[in-house]
Amino acid sequence: MTKFEDELRNNNFVCSYCTKCQHFVWPTSDCCNKCLGDVIWKQVSRKAKLVEVSSKDEKYFCIAEFEGNIRVFGTLLENLPPQHDQSLILEKCGYDKSPKFVFKTV
Ligand SMILES: [Zn+2]
Repeated sequence: MTKFEDELRNNNFVCSYCTKCQHFVWPTSDCCNKCLGDVIWKQVSRKAKLVEVSSKDEKYFCIAEFEGNIRVFGTLLENLPPQHDQSLILEKCGYDKSPKFVFKTV
């Protein structure tokens, strides 16, 4: 069990962050993917941007981007097709064998 998974279960999205390069290291890692330096765990903003959307059985799935470089796969609460460049809010996150993200449109 990693801290990342642990925090996700508590509806808290944290990601590894390099204080030297000042960017989030995604996928999460023990060291920075640019300078190989140590990273800290940092809270990720709940605001995200819709990158891609798909639908299946009247449910909407999306790829959302946080902080400019953290892209995750998630589900959308609304049953309406989202707009292009839609702003999203992370409604809920969790972990069940893989990270789970649920978004709603803003
Ligand atoms: Zn770095």
